[in-house]
Amino acid sequence: MRISVKAPAKINLTLDVLGKRDDGYHEVEMVMTTIDLADRIDIYPREDDKITLDSSACFVPLGEKNHVYQMAQLIKRRLGIHKGVHFFIHKNIPVAAGLAGGSSDAAATIRGLNGLWDLGLSTEEMAELGSEIGSDVAFCVYGGTALAKGRGEKIQPLPSLPPSWVILAKPPIGVSTAEVYGKVDMAKVKEYPPMSCQMVEAILEHDYRKIHQSLGNHLETVTLSLHPEVRRLKEQMLRFGADAALMSGSGPTVFCLVDKESRVHRIYNGLKGFCKDVFAVRVLGDKYHVGLPKTVQK
Ligand code: ATP
Repeated sequence: MRISVKAPAKINLTLDVLGKRDDGYHEVEMVMTTIDLADRIDIYPREDDKITLDSSACFVPLGEKNHVYQMAQLIKRRLGIHKGVHFFIHKNIPVAAGLAGGSSDAAATIRGLNGLWDLGLSTEEMAELGSEIGSDVAFCVYGGTALAKGRGEKIQPLPSLPPSWVILAKPPIGVSTAEVYGKVDMAKVKEYPPMSCQMVEAILEHDYRKIHQSLGNHLETVTLSLHPEVRRLKEQMLRFGADAALMSGSGPTVFCLVDKESRVHRIYNGLKGFCKDVFAVRVLGDKYHVGLPKTVQK
């Protein structure tokens, strides 16, 4: 028997850093949405009680450092499960790109094991357990569009965005989220207004123009100064016709939202001329439901 679970990437429509907390994390507010660029996690029961994993990509860790492994181990320990499991990660989401690939894999793992091991966990319980692995896991458990607060683990679901495409371009560098947060200068951040409240309004009003005007990411101040190619990519996106361009998460992926297919082609083809990793996919919005994992008989 095999269970297959989809693990979609997210983009940040906003990322406001509100301050530094005593526990070392930053207090943030972020509006995020899932997009149709996804890994797939295949889950196989094992005869023994081990956790093993393999992946289609050679650049993700295959042992205890993998978020999938960590998630399964946490579930086993916390809920006293003595069963074993093997995972195969079909990796499509670029790694260390600001798209929460690892977090989404962890969220898919808890959803999948909830079904396979009949754990009966609610979405809230899965999100709470998942956030022990990483701050973005809670959002990835919910999917859709949501406002995240705290260190990212407090989730308020929102209605979906108006139907749109998202074009993503990733320069050939990986960015460490911890390093970027470590270099945040709160005095500099305060020069930029937080945008999450306005973004929530824009989404509730279904106002596409206001959504564009409300895009904002405080981490750009750090990543753009470390990696000037990210700024150049944003400029190219605007040159090829994007209304606005923004970095997702801690970067380096840059994206724009587009509502007309003809413009998608123009921007995509323009970027493809000088950037290898360009994707044009749909925003999933409320068309994405966490739902039950698919069970496949072998
Ligand atoms: P976020 O947007 O949540 O900050 P990210 O998209 O920037 O995340 P990831 O792709 O999740 O970054 O990778 C961050 C680190 O996590 C990488 O250095 C990678 O080695 C490690 N990692 C562990 N498990 C996974 C996984 N299943 N997929 C991708 N990376 C993983």
